[in-house]
Amino acid sequence: MQNSSVQDAMNEQIKMELTSAYAYLAISACFEEQNLSGFARWMRLQAEEELDHAMKFFDFIHDRGGRVALQALDQPKAQYESALAAFETALHHEQRVSAAINAIYTLAVRENDFASQSFLDWFVDEQVEEEKNAAFAIEQLRMAGDNPAALLMLDREFGKREGGED
Ligand code: MG
Repeated sequence: MQNSSVQDAMNEQIKMELTSAYAYLAISACFEEQNLSGFARWMRLQAEEELDHAMKFFDFIHDRGGRVALQALDQPKAQYESALAAFETALHHEQRVSAAINAIYTLAVRENDFASQSFLDWFVDEQVEEEKNAAFAIEQLRMAGDNPAALLMLDREFGKREGGED
């Protein structure tokens, strides 16, 4: 059976992952409007990943005989003054997600919930990747500075991200 306090935290995490998906989809739309289709694609794929993360928790709660309780999502920020600002928001967001995953892990340890600890190991590793990817984008965009040619080159590079069906 699923420990109830861990289940509550995982239900909160479903909201957080879906909030991430919503935020990245909004950023993707913002890039589309600016004709930065490579960054738009990257963020769209990121949004899809976050939906997968939410579904991992959704499935795990059910696998443990628990109950999923979906919550209302907040409206995401729709406008960003630059690609750099958008990726800085993404990094800040991922750092908050990492802290939330760590908090659930701490709870699972305290409750001797070994199944949840094993499940959460994947997310601990995933957050290392998520923070690394956002930080990499920020560094590259800082190097590009105000140079439109460099920005377009990065847009092409980020558009090569694998995934999706297109
Ligand atoms: Mg996630």
